Amino acid sequence: MTTTKPRSLVIALDGPAASGKGTLARRLARHYGFAHLDTGLIYRAVGMKVVRAGGDPADMASAAAAARALGPEDLGAGDLRGDLAANAASKVAAIAEIRAILLEFQRNFARHPPGGEPGAVLDGRDIGTVVCPDAEAKLYVVAAVEVRAERRLKELREAGVEAIYARVLQDLKERDARDMGRSTAPLTQAQDAFVLDTSALDADAAFAAALDFIETRIRADRA
Ligand code: C5P
Repeated sequence: MTTTKPRSLVIALDGPAASGKGTLARRLARHYGFAHLDTGLIYRAVGMKVVRAGGDPADMASAAAAARALGPEDLGAGDLRGDLAANAASKVAAIAEIRAILLEFQRNFARHPPGGEPGAVLDGRDIGTVVCPDAEAKLYVVAAVEVRAERRLKELREAGVEAIYARVLQDLKERDARDMGRSTAPLTQAQDAFVLDTSALDADAAFAAALDFIETRIRADRA
């Protein structure tokens, strides 16, 4: 497929855990030569900073102190990919003050992509609705929770982590409920987002569908 090289563009990807948005975001960023920000990693880093200090991620004062002290080294910590970090992340992420502290960094990344890249791909839960409401292309990536649990289970087992399906499914359901039910920036589809259901798609098919939508948006913007 021939693609248009956009001059400057923000692509926003939102969706629940294990919907495929992270893989898609990395691939889109590579395709367009854009910078990529996995915003979940920021919340994971804040959550784990609190946990490592022996604090409660749901406690506003501890989480705010961690968010304010967050440095680039925290995003490279080795313990951010596991479920402990995911759960701590979704607790700090439910606190409005924490989201406010982290908002400017994300917006700045989108407006001024590091390395002078001509655009940025951000993935998370509130990119199209709160962080970058003016993004040129918004995708809301979903998949059935059972499919997401299977994917997560496979990832964990491949990483050598012992896991059982029922537990993984339960964790995802709890995290979905927290992310969708919180009062500040809940996970929800932006009105102008393209809904991409990856339940029956592999990574290549999801990428092709996303690219098709983005290219249509770019052409429409330029018409
Ligand atoms: O995407 P990931 O699973 O790494 O995100 C971990 C948690 O961080 C999510 O469950 C969610 O609670 C929070 N998050 C958020 N807003 C974002 C990105 C992540 O609330 N933009």
